[in-house]
Amino acid sequence: MADRTCDVLVLGGGPGGYVAAIRAAQLGKSVVCVERDRTLGGTCVNVGCIPSKALLETSHHYEFAKQDAAAHGITFGKVAIDVAAMHKRKDDVVAANCKGVEFLFRKHKVTWAQGTGTLKGGNVVDVQAADGTVTTFTAADVIIATGSDPIALPFLPFDEERVLSNVGALRIPEVPRHLVVVGGGVIGLELGSVWRRLGAKVTVVELLPAILPGYDAEIVKEADRAFRKQGLDIRTGTKVTGATVEKKRVLLEIEKDGAKETLDADRVLVAVGRKPALRGVDAKALGLALGPRGEVRVDAQMRTSLPRVYAIGDVAGGMLLAHKAEEEGVVAAEVIAGKPARMHYGAIPAVVYTWPEIAAVGLTEQQAREGGREVRVGKFPFSANGRARTAGESTGFIKLVADARTDTLLGAHLIGPQVSELVAEAVLAMEFRGSSEDIALTVHAHPTLSETMKEAALGVLGRAVHI
Ligand SMILES: Cc1cc2nc3c(=O)[nH]c(=O)nc-3n(C[C@H](O)[C@H](O)[C@H](O)COP(=O)(O)OP(=O)(O)OC[C@H]3O[C@@H](n4cnc5c(N)ncnc54)[C@H](O)[C@@H]3O)c2cc1C
Repeated sequence: MADRTCDVLVLGGGPGGYVAAIRAAQLGKSVVCVERDRTLGGTCVNVGCIPSKALLETSHHYEFAKQDAAAHGITFGKVAIDVAAMHKRKDDVVAANCKGVEFLFRKHKVTWAQGTGTLKGGNVVDVQAADGTVTTFTAADVIIATGSDPIALPFLPFDEERVLSNVGALRIPEVPRHLVVVGGGVIGLELGSVWRRLGAKVTVVELLPAILPGYDAEIVKEADRAFRKQGLDIRTGTKVTGATVEKKRVLLEIEKDGAKETLDADRVLVAVGRKPALRGVDAKALGLALGPRGEVRVDAQMRTSLPRVYAIGDVAGGMLLAHKAEEEGVVAAEVIAGKPARMHYGAIPAVVYTWPEIAAVGLTEQQAREGGREVRVGKFPFSANGRARTAGESTGFIKLVADARTDTLLGAHLIGPQVSELVAEAVLAMEFRGSSEDIALTVHAHPTLSETMKEAALGVLGRAVHI
């Protein structure tokens, strides 16, 4: 078929790729974005951030109606969950978001080449459509944004029926009797929470001594306590050693300190991590340098080892988060357009959308101390916040970590109601190289959850008022 040329070709239409494409178009480039799926938006919009949050929302309302509404004087008849309706709503939300990206492409005159791209030398990309036709593009600059794939356990391959990745876990057709989640990280805890709220027995098996690796130790302790109280059966320090997959169940062998046990699950979600997906990019043949985890090596301007080839998002490693992918996409597009953009990773928030929510930015207390810094810590619990008490959501706290000498804010660690939103204040403060005093001297509306942030900042200075 026809050969085409463009200024920028983006391989992959996820949050990294589509944002890079739009930003490059805003900067006057002719842009082609290659996406093999039938919809744009990548993992995040189709089988990640958006559908998982839609299910978390539904299951949260269900649990409120069933368990908490009566305390407000609200009573229902029998509260029931229609799983098919829940999935339809989730699918509608996903479809609207995908259409939104298509609209943005039209608005910015980005061409969507629908098909699977293969990167060849000299920035030539073959795009094979579903009907087999191949279009060859030659681009001045190429951005690799091919995302990541879930990691399977060697003895437990995904069938998306009994052994699920995120894809299958987002479309389980009925509430499972017993869902076992292998992996106590973000994805496992979020999706495990969905199905527990809807009535499943959920067991979380984590190899490490604690859930949520990488998060502040005090936050993890509080989260572990809250999740167990809700009924999640959390098994830390526990290894999955084998499995038998039957037609309607999976027998999972686990082992802790030499003691063996078999879990009888009707479904198993394997959420042990994700790996860079280099589909259509033969790194070896191209001479593209990879890092130890198979991620594409990039510099702070998203340049790879190949001239005029950039990589962004999950395929470039680091934090596997949509907003990190988006920011890298902006940087790559701006560098291509000759702007002095560069990434810095010091103030990228991470959120766990369980209940209570968990959010973090910057260094944990432990990381700061291990890095040789003297720190001061301020903590304030939601149980002492008026707004949290009106909502009946007083679990959790905010913890701020500041440099003891300069008071510069180094990190914020939050667990509690709506901390996915509250963390933005700390992110902004850190972007401005702010101090805990800057937050402490800022007037926060009363009564709001955000007063907890102010009080934690006052706590760093040793003068919290409301505790
Ligand atoms: C269950 C789950 C929940 C998540 N929740 C959150 C969250 O709440 N917040 C958050 O920040 N992150 C979340 N994430 C992570 C987030 O989804 C990823 O970090 C993000 O999608 C990465 O974006 P990306 O553009 O790098 O890759 P992707 O979104 O994976 O997009 C890559 C795209 O490239 C396409 N592609 C690959 N190779 C080719 C090829 N050769 N030709 C054509 N197309 C190709 C793929 O089809 C895909 O659409 C979640 C992930 C999962 C699995």
